[in-house]
Amino acid sequence: MADKLLSTLQADIVIAGSGPGGATVAREMSRKGKKVIICEAGGYHKWFGYTASTMNMLHGKGMTFSKEGNWILSARTAGGGSVIYGGLAFKPPAWLKEKYGIDLQEEVDEVYEEVPVRPLPDTHIGPGARKIMQAARDMGLDWKPNDRFIRPDKCKPDCSACMHGCKEGAKWTAREYLEEAIQHGAQLLLRTQVDHVLTESGRAVGLRAKGPSGWMDILADTVIVSGGGLGTPPILQRSGLHDAGQGLVVDFGRFVVGPCQSRPPQVEVPAATGIHLEEDGIIMLDATPKPLLYGAMLGFSGPKGWLAMPQVMQMKKNIGVLMMVKDDLEGRVNLDRSFSKPIDPGSWSKLNKGTVLAEEILQGAGVRRKDIVTTTAFAAHQLSSVRIGDLLDKNCQTPINGCYCMDASVIPQEWGMPPMVTIVALAKRLAKHLSTTVETKAAVQEVA
Ligand SMILES: Cc1cc2nc3c(=O)[nH]c(=O)nc-3n(C[C@H](O)[C@H](O)[C@H](O)COP(=O)(O)OP(=O)(O)OC[C@H]3O[C@@H](n4cnc5c(N)ncnc54)[C@H](O)[C@@H]3O)c2cc1C
Repeated sequence: MADKLLSTLQADIVIAGSGPGGATVAREMSRKGKKVIICEAGGYHKWFGYTASTMNMLHGKGMTFSKEGNWILSARTAGGGSVIYGGLAFKPPAWLKEKYGIDLQEEVDEVYEEVPVRPLPDTHIGPGARKIMQAARDMGLDWKPNDRFIRPDKCKPDCSACMHGCKEGAKWTAREYLEEAIQHGAQLLLRTQVDHVLTESGRAVGLRAKGPSGWMDILADTVIVSGGGLGTPPILQRSGLHDAGQGLVVDFGRFVVGPCQSRPPQVEVPAATGIHLEEDGIIMLDATPKPLLYGAMLGFSGPKGWLAMPQVMQMKKNIGVLMMVKDDLEGRVNLDRSFSKPIDPGSWSKLNKGTVLAEEILQGAGVRRKDIVTTTAFAAHQLSSVRIGDLLDKNCQTPINGCYCMDASVIPQEWGMPPMVTIVALAKRLAKHLSTTVETKAAVQEVA
């Protein structure tokens, strides 16, 4: 490295990335009296509620594409993706315990209680969601209200900005855990990009990072890499773990939208209801994108999308289905954070099946077939690029002793659903593991 090292900081635990995984470990460990430093590449954005404000909090202002040209949304802000996520809560699948011996029941219960996570009450299920739910039920589908990380007492039923940063403080974000960690003495270094893990004799001793005033070393006994599915692999690769980043799951999705003349023109909370067709690997929700995002999606959807542009002007009449489908591990994150992620044939067939079903639901809800528009495929999840059982042990430790990963990259295999509950629960589980290992180490030292 040509640049001069400017400073050295010291902590018990240093964390790269302040998304849900990193923020949860920071909160849990600082509450136990540990000195925690968190490095976050992004800033602490506070302008919320608009498509433009969301783009400001995304890598490449939202214009991030795989080598194959597939559109992926990835957050770069304090709190990571939780600031712009939809607030959907899905419990971890049973196979996590059965196949990997990871039982998250206790931690999931904690998450549900603390937030609290619940379905939205009837008052917050808007007219579009109701029409879609009714049409889906008429087709025999078990379409129902979703569990949400949203507190109804603060949530405005005529607001649709969950994914643009919640101005009301109704949606739980990892910033709440970051703030709590800071109250317990943790330090959050913003606009500070972690480069690699510092090691001595195969053991992690800290992180090297570049902040606004230059390079620094943050020395600590325990290192947590939490840069997310795209951010974590380059840090590990620079630390000598060259297999990091082999495999990447993103769960592609798309909107199917159309104007419904009988729908009252009212803005509503998106994704209030939905269905998980587990065997098909498809999740469907009620949701329409906001005008600017919808315009961009139609723009990327080719000539058919361009012809549908006038629909953007009828936003309050539109109803829509957002689907996401389970994809495979085919993908790769590179050292320069570029990545490869094709849409595999299985994903295409699920997207097509989901689209046909969504078209039927929309028609049942009163949308004319000729008015239905399908957007380009895109993805908002980045998972499984540094998996448990592959590069990581069951406690998420890397082959570097004392260096752990904690974010969406640790998910051990194909996933196919929103991962937030699982990430926060896994991070709580890691914090419990760290507490016992740190306490055991201290006891051994005392006896010695
Ligand atoms: C639009 C959208 C909607 C979503 N909706 C839902 C939903 O409803 N429910 C759900 O469960 N999930 C949802 N997700 C997915 C969910 O937000 C992510 O899976 C989750 O945030 C991943 O958490 P993470 O811990 O992996 O970290 P991330 O959220 O990926 O955050 C990682 C952080 O690390 C920082 N970082 C990266 N590299 C470095 C580095 N080298 N040095 C320092 N910092 C670094 C990044 O800037 C970022 O802030 C959504 C995602 C998006 C984008």
